[in-house]
Amino acid sequence: MTLDTPKTVFLDRDGVINQDSPDYIKSWEEFAFLPGSLEALRLLNERGLCTILVTNQSAVARRMLTIAELESLHQRMQDKIVDAGGRITDIFYCPHLPEEKCKCRKPRTGMIERAADKYGLELAQSVLVGDSAKDILCARQAAVGRTILVRTGNGLSAEIELAALKVFPDHVAADLLAAVRWIIDPQSQARPPSGRKRNP
Ligand SMILES: [Mg+2]
Repeated sequence: MTLDTPKTVFLDRDGVINQDSPDYIKSWEEFAFLPGSLEALRLLNERGLCTILVTNQSAVARRMLTIAELESLHQRMQDKIVDAGGRITDIFYCPHLPEEKCKCRKPRTGMIERAADKYGLELAQSVLVGDSAKDILCARQAAVGRTILVRTGNGLSAEIELAALKVFPDHVAADLLAAVRWIIDPQSQARPPSGRKRNP
């Protein structure tokens, strides 16, 4: 483990841990882990890193699933993760619609701030992994130390969207497993060909 390995890893859910869907993930039957994500979560747990999920779930406000159903889905997800040797420390979700203008929906920073308060986190020592521009923008806004965009989920279009905003993640990884390997040992992971470093 290198000296600057972060203590906390924030993860988006859809498109990072599991397959995203334009129709929303409304039940456990629709939830499918992306290849390598369980192994990535195991590696984080093995190294004792605090892993916190921050996920926009407007499907709740859209009445596609209830809070109880979302929490039951998360419990089943966590059970599978634990079976594979991983562990998610906590899950923060935003159940609101974009137009509700809540403080928690990414790119707003409410979920990260709540997690930081609850666990006394040093955000500058944290890293966030996401597949959408709003994940990276949220992390930057919350002064999370490092950001990684994965090319699963919305990652490819997010890379273009962020470049147009001149916002460059610290690293771009093929998927969560590659992102976690970079977190654990940045030197061991060559950057993908079009990966961009953050602007000075
Ligand atoms: Mg996502």
